[in-house]
Amino acid sequence: MLQFAVATTTRSEMIDVTDQVQGLVRHSGIRSGICHVYVPHTTAAVTINENADPTIRRDVVVALDSLVPWSGNYQHSEGNSAAHIKAILVGPSVEVFVEDGQLQLGTWQGIFFCEFDGPRRRQVWVKVVGDESGIQDKGARI
Ligand code: ZN
Repeated sequence: MLQFAVATTTRSEMIDVTDQVQGLVRHSGIRSGICHVYVPHTTAAVTINENADPTIRRDVVVALDSLVPWSGNYQHSEGNSAAHIKAILVGPSVEVFVEDGQLQLGTWQGIFFCEFDGPRRRQVWVKVVGDESGIQDKGARI
């Protein structure tokens, strides 16, 4: 397993980690396979969405805050139930195909670490699994 750290700076934010993940794919030496990205936290998450317009990530943070307010009828004594709920909604992992040693993301897509109870120092775990045959998928369709 490979990993990298993310230092978040506010309570809620989305940080583009595509370059760090691509760096680990390169480090793995795997040309064709699957890249698993996993966040081992209960108040943070990972997702894939648009990285061209930065207002999107701001809008997502604002919408999630409105959907799951920080203060509510919560019982969890740590006081961060909203962060736990948002982490469940967004989820702890994503997978991306790897071909030619490159993450196969759509034109407008990036991988985002989602902080919901920062600022904190976080970890992202990455595992790149190569195709068993070592033969690259040439895009055959059936
Ligand atoms: Zn908690």
